[in-house]
Order: sequence, then C-alpha cells, then structure tokens
Amino acid sequence: MAVTRFAPSPTGYLHIGGLRTALYSYLWARKTKGQFRLRIEDTDTQRNNEDAMKAILEAFEWVGMDFDGEVEYQSKRLDIYKEYIQKLLDEGNAYYCYMTKEELDALREKQMANKQTPRYDGTWRPEEGKTLPLIPEGVEPVVRIKAPKEGMITFIDGVKSIMNFNCSEVDDFVIARSNGMPTYNFVVTIDDALMGITDVIRGDDHLTNTAKQIIIYEALGFNIPKFYHVPMINNPQGKKLSKRDGALDVMEYKRQGFLPETLLNFLVRLGWSHGDQEIFSMEEMLELFDPSNINKSASSYNEEKLLWLNSHY
Ligand code: GLU
Repeated sequence: MAVTRFAPSPTGYLHIGGLRTALYSYLWARKTKGQFRLRIEDTDTQRNNEDAMKAILEAFEWVGMDFDGEVEYQSKRLDIYKEYIQKLLDEGNAYYCYMTKEELDALREKQMANKQTPRYDGTWRPEEGKTLPLIPEGVEPVVRIKAPKEGMITFIDGVKSIMNFNCSEVDDFVIARSNGMPTYNFVVTIDDALMGITDVIRGDDHLTNTAKQIIIYEALGFNIPKFYHVPMINNPQGKKLSKRDGALDVMEYKRQGFLPETLLNFLVRLGWSHGDQEIFSMEEMLELFDPSNINKSASSYNEEKLLWLNSHY
C-alpha cells in the first residue's frame, strides 16, 4: 500500500513534467490501494499566486486524477516546522549560526580561489572542547543542521538503484532562515514524514536534495520513504524541453483539442514502457504500471507520437 504525493509550488501553470510524475504517483497509489495526496508548497509568499493554485487544480480535474484526504498547505503548517526545528536544536542536532552574508561571501570567494567547492566551514558548529566565537550584536542567526562530516549518505533509488553521496559534498546546510522561515528541504521532509508518505516519486533534479533530506530524517528518527527519481523529459535535441518544442502547460493541450486520455497515455510512455505496447487505457496503466520499470535515462518529447496517439482515441 503506497502512500504517494504530488507537491507543487503554486507559482505557475501545471507543467507536463509535473503531470507525468503526478501520474506515476497516482498510478502507484491506486494500483497498490494506497493513497495519493496533494500538498501545496506555498511557503514562498512572494512567488505564490492564487491563479496558479486554481490552474493546477483545474488541470487535475480535466485529466480526471483525484486526490485522497485533505489538501495540505505548507503555509498553514509553520508552527509544526518550528516545533521540529526546536527539537533538533534541543537535542544538539542543529545549531544557530551567526555568520553574516558578507562573511559567507568572503568564505566562498576564498574557497573558490583555492579551487575548493564552496561550503560552510563549521565556524558555529558546537564541538566538544571548542570555543565558539562571541555572538555578534544585531545579527539574526540561521539554524543549520549538523550533517555527518565523514562517510557516505547512501540510499537505494527505485529507478537509479544505489545512490552514494560523499559527506564531504554536503555541508551543515540551513534549515531555518534568519527570519525564522524553514527551508525547502526541511519542510518537505517533515511533511513527507508526518503525512506517512511511503513512496516519493519526483524529478531527478531533486537527487542532491534527497541526500540532505535523509540527514533530516535520520536526525529526527523518522522512517525514510522509498525514492524514485524520474529522469527529465528532453526535447528531440537532448536539451531541456522549452515552449518552442511543444506546449508545457497541461491546459494548453485541452485548448488545442487533445483528449485527456491521449495526454496521459503520451506521458506514461515518456519514461516508462511495457514491451512494445503504445496504447494504454487507464485500466491497463493501473494494472501494468510499476515505478521500478521507469527508464533510467531521460526521455525525448515526440510531438508526432502525441498526434499519432490522438488519432487512435
Ligand atoms: N515543490 C517542489 C517542486 O515543485 C516539490 C519537490 C518534491 O516533490 O519534493 O519541485
């Protein structure tokens, strides 16, 4: 029984790449008689907008994919996040860092001049026997998590198999900004854990975030879900898909007269296959889809295939 989720940031229309990962999450939840949840990631108040939220919900309605349970809005869960940040601070797994932006910039410049990857140097990380600098006046601190300094962060990705990140690549990253707002990796982890998400299916642009999220899961003693990182959809030239290659807004397909069945069939096949079969009804997708058969490499957007499929519905 998989509990999956779709977690859009309401900053624009629903992108076909987003609908594809949502479709995979939906099929996996329905096939396993689990749940498919919707979480609106609306903590970036400057970029969010009501119209985008409506457009996303409208697109799901058009394709006929329904969600289970209440819609969760991150903007309404700030108290929960703050509670967990406090817990990490209280248990010594996170700490306040008073480094100013200017100091951080100078540190980065120095590291880059020495051909090092820029990373936080642990100035404010409490260690046994270490004396911390004096707290400067007038600086609002950020909260950083204590990331492991040595070893590997390893997880089995359902698409890409074993993933290893050297701890030297992950620094003590910020989990709460100086204005108290928690960061993306933090809120996603808390929400996925508290919502009981068992299977996270999302784009492979989130792979390094997953390594960071695992540090948070472990610090809080939460169960780590299964991850499936789906390769991107590229244009036929192997570059990032853009508006010139085809419609990116799901509702644009509706305006152009495509049937939702065609679009879903097209999307399920962009990155997943079952033998040579090209045409799938929703019943067949539900019966045959398995996220462990998602392709390991990027897929290519093929407009002709879409038109061909449309003529078969
Ligand atoms: N709001 C994030 C995004 O739109 C969600 C990422 C995730 O699925 O964890 O990219």
